[in-house]
Amino acid sequence: MARLVFPSTKIPDGVSVSEWSDWTWQLRRSLKTQADFERFFDLSMGEQSAFSEGKELFNVRTTPYYATLATQHSRSSDDPLRRILMPQEMELHSGTQQMLDPLGERRNQTSSRVIHRYSDRVLFLVTDICSVYCRFCTRKHFTGQDQAFIRKDEYEKALSYISSHSGIREVILSGGDPLTLSDTHLEKVITDLRRIDHVEIIRVGTRMPVVAPMRVTDSLVRILRQGAPVFLMSHFNHPRELTAEAAEALTKLVDGGVPVMNQMVLLNGVNNHPAIVQALSRRLLYLRVKPYYMFQCDPSIGTDHLRTSIDDSLEIQRELWGHLSGLAMPTYAVDIPDGGGKTVLTPNFETARTESGRRYRGWDGVEADYVNPVGAKVSPADAFLYEEEWASLKNAKQNPAPSTGAPDVHI
Ligand code: SF4
Repeated sequence: MARLVFPSTKIPDGVSVSEWSDWTWQLRRSLKTQADFERFFDLSMGEQSAFSEGKELFNVRTTPYYATLATQHSRSSDDPLRRILMPQEMELHSGTQQMLDPLGERRNQTSSRVIHRYSDRVLFLVTDICSVYCRFCTRKHFTGQDQAFIRKDEYEKALSYISSHSGIREVILSGGDPLTLSDTHLEKVITDLRRIDHVEIIRVGTRMPVVAPMRVTDSLVRILRQGAPVFLMSHFNHPRELTAEAAEALTKLVDGGVPVMNQMVLLNGVNNHPAIVQALSRRLLYLRVKPYYMFQCDPSIGTDHLRTSIDDSLEIQRELWGHLSGLAMPTYAVDIPDGGGKTVLTPNFETARTESGRRYRGWDGVEADYVNPVGAKVSPADAFLYEEEWASLKNAKQNPAPSTGAPDVHI
């Protein structure tokens, strides 16, 4: 097979290279209205209806870069990338499960901008603005509601919560898309978090490398590296999103010392085929990006036409098993609706349980027993060294720290 290639996106006529390569130009010129979209796409009846009848429609926006990418391969309304960005009349129909907040986030919201679901991690919603409003978005209850930057009082409250809970080890910057913030704002957020001793890891969840890869500038990489360890969580869903521009952005991040991991969502008519998942995963891995999660699409309002069944998703996972390297294999996970948390699903290779162990048949038919050892279970003699740390992590939500050390905030 030929080497992996990452084709460039064609710059539209009348646009200069310097405009195209400026992420702020991409955001300023983003497509929001039916007229904007008609300049790039021949809208189908269903797409026109979504615009004209969609008073309740989730926000619409995409960058010229991503719109160009979605038309470069085919102009059909079935194009997989078009299904991600283009509103559909079907979004307005009632479906089998229509949840405004499928992850039960509002129940775990400790302030308007902090969601504390898992013990040692919080989501910090630093903006509600995105450069593309993905039709499958799971956070429609928040994303794009105000279309504004975080207020100073909300920011202070969020930072105060994080600094007063000493069990919080990870802060996940999310939104909205944190990379729509200016470098100045982003640097301020990361610097403030770094002044809180117990925050070990910062993650930045973003679609910008997908929809505006020119956002990954030298200055951005410097800011992320200075705040290390900062992990960038990208959201590539389809191999065609890995253009030359995206490959350059990912290479810049990894070369600059920023680890990148990818979270994809399985989407009906977009990537629900093992050939597509493997193509995406292998290309990501080649660019030194770890395919991390393959999520079941949450039953967010208006997403029935984009969701796959769990059985179909498991079948994709089973087909990939054994053929795709473990490094390239994303973990398939479902978020239990209503805030039940993540559950990981894998093909079940167990064929029997016996008194002495279990019997398995592997992905290519080899069958054998795993026999348990007979010796007594031995607890590690030095486990006590880590027990306090473990308890503080498990109790992080009920564990306010002494009130010292909260940084001054100005944003
Ligand atoms: S970028 Fe993320 S938060 Fe924004 S619309 Fe897409 S999925 Fe939702």
